[in-house]
Order: sequence, then C-alpha cells, then structure tokens
Amino acid sequence: MRALVLKDQLSFDPDYPAPAPAPGEAIVRVTRAGICNTDLELVKGYMGFRGIPGHEFVGVLEETGERVVAEINCVGPGSPSRDWRERSQDPGRDTLGIDRRDGAFAEWVRVPLANLHRVPGAVSDDEAAFVEPLAAACQILEQVPIRPTDRARVLGDGKLGLLCAQVLATTGCDLLALGKHPDKLAILERRGIRTALAADWSGARDADVVVEATGSPAGFDLARRMLRPRGTLVLKSTFAGLTPADLTGVVVDEIAVIGSRCGPFDAALRLLERKQVDVLPLICARYPLEQGLQAFARARAPGALKVLMDISPF
Ligand SMILES: [Zn+2]
Repeated sequence: MRALVLKDQLSFDPDYPAPAPAPGEAIVRVTRAGICNTDLELVKGYMGFRGIPGHEFVGVLEETGERVVAEINCVGPGSPSRDWRERSQDPGRDTLGIDRRDGAFAEWVRVPLANLHRVPGAVSDDEAAFVEPLAAACQILEQVPIRPTDRARVLGDGKLGLLCAQVLATTGCDLLALGKHPDKLAILERRGIRTALAADWSGARDADVVVEATGSPAGFDLARRMLRPRGTLVLKSTFAGLTPADLTGVVVDEIAVIGSRCGPFDAALRLLERKQVDVLPLICARYPLEQGLQAFARARAPGALKVLMDISPF
C-alpha cells in the first residue's frame, strides 16, 4: 500500500506491506488524515518513533462502509482496560502513529474495534479528521471543572489552542484567548470569543485557569504569570526536549499544574454534530498522500494551521 514512513527521515513508500488484522481489530481505509504538531516532533526524534505516523484521521470500515474515527491508545483484547480513560494510561498500551504502532498516513490502518466511533452523517470527513485533537481539547473539561464565573485564558493560537478556546467557550466562562497571529485569533473572534495579542497582555494576574497551548517551552512561564494564586495551569503542549520553568513561582503561588492529553471522542463528535465548534477554518492546505513530504513542509512553515492529507478518494 501507499504510506508515509518514518525511518531515519520521513519518506513516501508506494509499496509498504498492508496491515493484517489481529483478533479484536479492524482494518480501516483512511480517507483523510491531519498533520499534528506531534507528527512534526516525531520527525525531530520525539518518542524515537519508527513506522507510519498519523493519529488524526477518519476512514471507512471496509466490510460495512461505515465511516469511523478511532481513539489512538491501543490495548490488546485481553487487557482489563475497557474505558477510554483507562486505555489512555494503560502501561501496556501502544499508540497509533506515535508509539510502536503504525498510524494513518497510509491507505489502511489497523485499529482495535474498541477504539472505533461511528461518525454521524452531519459530520463531514474534513470535520471528522479533527475529532482526535478536539477530544484532547475536551479533556480539559474532564479534568478541570470550569464554572461560568471563572476567568479562563487560552495561551496559544495554533491548531490546538484554537480548539481549546472553542471548547472552553461552551462553558460560558469569562474567556480570553491570547496568541501572536491576528489572522488566527480572528477565527475565534468570528465565533464571539474575545481575543488579544499575548504581547498586549495587561499584566493582570487574575486568571482562575490558564491553558498553555503554545507548543513552545516559553509558554509555561507566561501562562503561570497570568494565574491568580492557587490558580490552575493546564499543559497541552508536547514537544521533544525539556521545558525551563520557574517552579519556585509555582510553589509560592500554590499553582495546580495539570498535564492533559487524550480525551473523549463521543463528546468531540457531539460538538461537531451540533455545530458548537467550527474546525473547518483551521484547514490551511491539503495534499494527496504521495505529496506527504510537501504536506509536512507546509505544516512546518510559519503561520500554518491544519494540513490535511486526502488519502482514499472514497
Ligand atoms: Zn495530535
């Protein structure tokens, strides 16, 4: 099959072996897949991954024609982890396109049946390609109850920041999204979400919750300084390498730091179905799988948002 393969570097392979299903697994024909910052980090050496990357995708079950998306944390059929929350932290898991399991930048991908979710008819393939990162944004509300009276800030106007801000907006809280790019913040403004340039931050340390989604180690410190004492700092960025951080400030202000990763697919699908979030303005370019290297170059370029790959013409 056609696939993008990461060995010492990323390359297109027109003849990669197609996957064979193990017990309790399905083969999904991939229609669309999105490039995530994690994919760019994998190419730089994050996780030491070798194989087919790609974990944000929608596809079709070959036998039934049903459209599906899939959670990325995979455990064997014998594992006691039945719930997505357990699978997400199962010590025996492997992770689609990130850790020891081939992902979705390919014609077919092998996925445990337990990880599949049917895509409602009202959700297009382009929208469904965002379910995985949108679920990750929903995970913030799983971990931190945000009240309508809370002051919440989202720092970072990249792909994930724009999704986090839209999810937090559903709570009715006092929300401000901060970033560096007026054109990206405008996507949120059009949905009635208040935004500001991070450089124009007033210096007010009054936020109850700050979501750090800059994708850059420097975001931690600014996020911390926006918080009131005993506020909550939610970390969404993953990258290769370490984050320099003023942990004394965390101690003195008694900040709760919450790491936040994969989230509920059913909630993400519901938000898309009810049009409570709009992901389509995040698409900045699309490429066929054969041009995967160009797609990655585009995703790395300054100012890029979501780059999609059109894989199966179905
Ligand atoms: Zn991702």
